[in-house]
Amino acid sequence: MRKKIAAANWKMNLRLEQGEQLLDAILSKNINLSANSHVVFAVPFPYLQIASSKVNGKQNYAVAAQNCHQKSAGAYTGEVSAEMLQSLQIPFVVLGHSERREYNGETNAILAEKVNEALAKSLQPIFCCGEPLAIREDGTQNAHVEKQLEESLFHLTAEQILQIVIAYEPIWAIGTGKTATADQAQDMHAHLRSVLSNKYGSDLANQISILYGGSVKGSNAKELFSKPDVDGGLVGGASLQADDFGLIIEALA
Ligand code: PEP
Repeated sequence: MRKKIAAANWKMNLRLEQGEQLLDAILSKNINLSANSHVVFAVPFPYLQIASSKVNGKQNYAVAAQNCHQKSAGAYTGEVSAEMLQSLQIPFVVLGHSERREYNGETNAILAEKVNEALAKSLQPIFCCGEPLAIREDGTQNAHVEKQLEESLFHLTAEQILQIVIAYEPIWAIGTGKTATADQAQDMHAHLRSVLSNKYGSDLANQISILYGGSVKGSNAKELFSKPDVDGGLVGGASLQADDFGLIIEALA
């Protein structure tokens, strides 16, 4: 059975003490997770260690970095390598978020390198894909997202692709309050699974978690997660509110 995941993306928000309070408030809810339900907090780099120590020992709770560099080491001032994350025992790294694609020029080719580097250092990528509004309005979103997968992931072996979590995040729904309908999310997730199936076979495609991201909230998570190909969510704004994120975690059940 594939994993269900509620992943929080804090982005560049919160002072340390606010982040600690938020984590404490969520963890103290002691939400009952089934064996295949997981919660991941993608926190800013400086908070990784303290966040790790807070989730340590909490079954099925983990921490993620929000990015890593594609090179393993060297003269890249200000960057963070996958090896550094590995040395902190961070299990996940978010790669290819649309904000990094837009503001940091991350192309599908660069993301293929980042995916390789993350896997080489035993980090599980949460690989983001998704189309801008103009592409959705054109009706070419399936081809757009398929190309993102092909160019960044489809060089991987079957064993490697099983380490990937995919997050489908339509850019027009991120931080806009405009959520894709549960049917729109399901249609794209089913398409992505069929693309994975064509490349790697259906057994393998059925084991890959595909999360939906884009204005997920406590009030819409249950409907989104009830769709057969939606295996949870990558959540920005609502993950900064303990009660709202608590409802999203509960919606995994
Ligand atoms: C995100 O940052 O990945 C995201 C989906 O943000 P939001 O939930 O705020 O739309």
